[in-house]
Amino acid sequence: TQRTLVILKPDAVRRGLVGNILARYEAKGLAIAALEHRTIDGEMADRHYAEHVERDFYPPLRTFVTSGPLVVAVLEGDEAIEVVRGLNGATDGRKAAPGTIRGDLSMSNRENLVHGSDSPESAEREIGIWFPNL
Ligand code: ATP
Repeated sequence: TQRTLVILKPDAVRRGLVGNILARYEAKGLAIAALEHRTIDGEMADRHYAEHVERDFYPPLRTFVTSGPLVVAVLEGDEAIEVVRGLNGATDGRKAAPGTIRGDLSMSNRENLVHGSDSPESAEREIGIWFPNL
């Protein structure tokens, strides 16, 4: 079994899609190992997105992820990292396949509702940042 970190970004909370999105992960068969509603500051955003802080798309992303409450979770299951990324869909909601979270619910490249860890190394790093006691 594997653990992955998922963020339901502020657009998901604002749009009232938290239940819809969590239901998809649960219905797929992933278990919720941790779940928290919280608002983060820019410093926390920088820690999470350490590999993107120098990118040109980062400043507006930083503003976006600190713009309101989000929901962060640890999901657990067989190949959870890949399974979650499949459910999330491609980064740009306009290009993401129908049936995926972004493909069904997002029209944006930035406000794309969810984040999922992209490797076992980043999952461990991100879980350590968001849930240090887990
Ligand atoms: P995530 O890591 O959030 O699951 P991802 O792996 O699909 O998404 P990354 O390339 O890691 O995408 O980018 C991280 C986040 O930065 C994206 O989810 C999106 O919100 C934002 N982002 C990425 N590329 C762009 C872009 N070209 N313009 C605007 N925002 C972007």
